[in-house]
Amino acid sequence: MSKNQSEYLIKRNNNEYEVVIGLEVHAQVLSESKLFSSSSTKFGAEPNTQVSLVDAAFPGMLPVINEFCIKQAVKTGIGLKAKINKKSIFDRKNYFYADLPQGYQISQYKNPIVGEGSVVLDLPSGEKKIGIERLHLEQDAGKSIHDIDPQNTLVDLNRSGVALMEIVSKPDLRSLEEVNAYVKKLRSIMRYLGTCDGNMQEGSLRADVNVSVRKKGQKELGTRCEIKNVNSIKFMQMAIEYEANRQVDVIEEGGSIDQETRLFDTKKNQTRSMRSKEDAHDYRYFPDPDLLPLEISDKFIDELKKNIPELPDEKKKRFIEKFKLSAYEANILVSDNETSKYFEEVIKESDVKISTNWITGELFALLNEKNLEISESPISAKNLSKLINLIKDGTISGKIAKSVFEIMADGNKDPKKIIEEKGLKQQSDPKELEKLIDKVINDNQDKVKEYKSGKEKLFGFFVGQTMKISGGKANPKLVNEILKKKLT
Ligand code: ADP
Ligand code: MG
Repeated sequence: MSKNQSEYLIKRNNNEYEVVIGLEVHAQVLSESKLFSSSSTKFGAEPNTQVSLVDAAFPGMLPVINEFCIKQAVKTGIGLKAKINKKSIFDRKNYFYADLPQGYQISQYKNPIVGEGSVVLDLPSGEKKIGIERLHLEQDAGKSIHDIDPQNTLVDLNRSGVALMEIVSKPDLRSLEEVNAYVKKLRSIMRYLGTCDGNMQEGSLRADVNVSVRKKGQKELGTRCEIKNVNSIKFMQMAIEYEANRQVDVIEEGGSIDQETRLFDTKKNQTRSMRSKEDAHDYRYFPDPDLLPLEISDKFIDELKKNIPELPDEKKKRFIEKFKLSAYEANILVSDNETSKYFEEVIKESDVKISTNWITGELFALLNEKNLEISESPISAKNLSKLINLIKDGTISGKIAKSVFEIMADGNKDPKKIIEEKGLKQQSDPKELEKLIDKVINDNQDKVKEYKSGKEKLFGFFVGQTMKISGGKANPKLVNEILKKKLT
């Protein structure tokens, strides 16, 4: 595993700075109900329709741990190859805010449910391991809405109490590409596990981004700034770029970096200070007296381990070994579980090489164009497999296959039927082809002369003409062979 293959360096005057990044990803647990109440977590409901008395923090209400959310967190920990802590503690993190009716957030602080683990990035230059510091469970807050009423801020508590996993990386990331690969890989693992849908538009995955810079070669890390609540990979990259350059400027001007929390303004494309370490909140963490320490057994963990599906790294390895794919192809095919399933379905009865090319080429282009997930593909794996077999056995050329594919895209028709109906079958009868070729030769005597006197480039012209009068149906391989014989 090579190191520092894609580091992000900033040059100023005669100095070179290295950028160091660590992410705290907040992933919403995929669960029908909230962490400590039975209210629904469904996205997009009318404001304040999914709020129980617990979520609204009515006096005397008691939280009850949702066992399913605990399972989801442990499964994610297993997927991150991390240590699962058999004892963890829920603390109260105290602060006042309008969208936080309890006056505190229940979160795990010193004793998280998941300890150290790792995530492997698939970079163009190879793989790189990123350390995971911990994963802890916490409640989400409600949402303040500032743009409905001109005078007042409105509060929607639907999100209040929804379970989040905060996944904290070590400061191992070194570039914008690595941040992109890291978030995508994390999302991919959680989607495979079914523990988070990773939907960034709906806010199911967002991150606090920690950035520092240091002179190249310097050992100690520089002072970091934390940019809060960034909700897309693009914005994370823009925020890091701005922030790293800002820090370099400060240092080059003889200043030093204050550890502070900053906000990224997506419209101005810059970060600005939110609060400095001096006025850092004292959250007065203490164990929530309404919740006992959470203890889980080996049996509980083993049971979940048994049911962990094959994850992207293992699948990638298997695809490379079994199907002789390149690392690049394997990465593309395993990054999404549905894609890998589709691929395996197609190659059950078809050539692996041709299938790989058609899925990563034509099919992906089609899905992209129509903005569809592979699970919504207008062409089923079965029918694509049939099309590939028709290419492989010479019934149609690759070129004809593309037009058949287009027709299939409009209604998942069986490619065999399309070929019959449209008479697209490849012409592979040598006698028939010879007739076409003789006509081309007769009609182009002048070109034949030129060819025979050495202008060999004209060979392509004859192939082209033959293909043309066959309506694109002539078997190109046979046309080549026959033409060669006839012209020499
Ligand atoms: P906090 O409570 O201040 O948010 P956490 O431990 O939750 O602290 O998270 C700290 C995050 O900052 C981690 O993701 C870690 O990798 C990252 N980090 C720590 N030091 C640096 C640094 N010098 N430069 C960049 N990132 C850092
Ligand atoms: Mg933090």
